[in-house]
Amino acid sequence: MADARRPPEVDRVAASRRAVAARRERAALKKDVAMRVITPQELLRRALAEPESPAGAMRVTEFLTAIPAIGEGKRDRILTDLEISPVKRLGGLGTRQRNALRRFLDERWPELEPRGGRSRLVVLAGPTAVGKGTVAAYIKQHHPEIHLSVSATTRAPRPGEVDGEHYFFVDDAEFDRLVAAGALLEYATVHNKHRYGTPRAPIERVLAEGRTALLEIDLQGARQVRAADPSATLVFLLPPSWDELVHRLVGRGTEDDEERARRLRTAKIELASQGEFDYRVVNDDVARAADEVARLAR
Ligand code: 5GP
Repeated sequence: MADARRPPEVDRVAASRRAVAARRERAALKKDVAMRVITPQELLRRALAEPESPAGAMRVTEFLTAIPAIGEGKRDRILTDLEISPVKRLGGLGTRQRNALRRFLDERWPELEPRGGRSRLVVLAGPTAVGKGTVAAYIKQHHPEIHLSVSATTRAPRPGEVDGEHYFFVDDAEFDRLVAAGALLEYATVHNKHRYGTPRAPIERVLAEGRTALLEIDLQGARQVRAADPSATLVFLLPPSWDELVHRLVGRGTEDDEERARRLRTAKIELASQGEFDYRVVNDDVARAADEVARLAR
């Protein structure tokens, strides 16, 4: 005779499947915090908004050690200081504990508040393969009031690329001449290969007309724009998750292990620079992300 106290076999199988899925989701969230795809505060917000979600079910110990620079020793001291028991889950924190944890996070990892008085010089940057080009192309098509800068580059045109529309394709001597003449607002060697730069004159003209200029450039270029014009609006495009970025970076699996590891290292470094930006936009959907960038650029 079946034991009435034991759940039927099918229920137990389903429950264990759910547990495995939940564990996987928690692991993905921890990776997102570790790789700085989301802030610890964002994860805490999700946990408190939905205590039954994978974020809510995460133990406070797991949460803290997912944060870069917190090891197990530091974690235990923090929990003692905040008077939070290590067995607590994020979704189960009391009001006083939530506030203490939030205050602690805000002090150590301040979330950038968008600054006022930003200019209409807008830079869109982000890690390699996050989809900057696609978002910029969408903005060009759907927000014609925004001027998308056309860069000069020493790389050869790809099939379908039109000189003067996608890039100004120049040779090394011509690029040198542009640099010497001060004709570039910023320039950089990208991926250790070719040089790319933003022609200054069209940007100055657009800004003088009171319009918005959007630059889709790499991180080195973004830093140069910030140095040249501290009021420039810097937007960082983020992947929806670390796993998704990995997928976009190495998804086709055509690279060898060394190249794969190099790309992931670079992505981690690139993500760590997002604190230098005024706004962060998640590229979860091209049209949505593009509309958000366009709104910020107004
Ligand atoms: P692609 O060769 O694939 O078109 O572009 C390669 C990278 O160059 C992209 O990450 C893009 O953001 C960057 N890039 C394109 N134009 C410029 C530019 O004018 N300045 C800088 N610094 N980077 C650029």
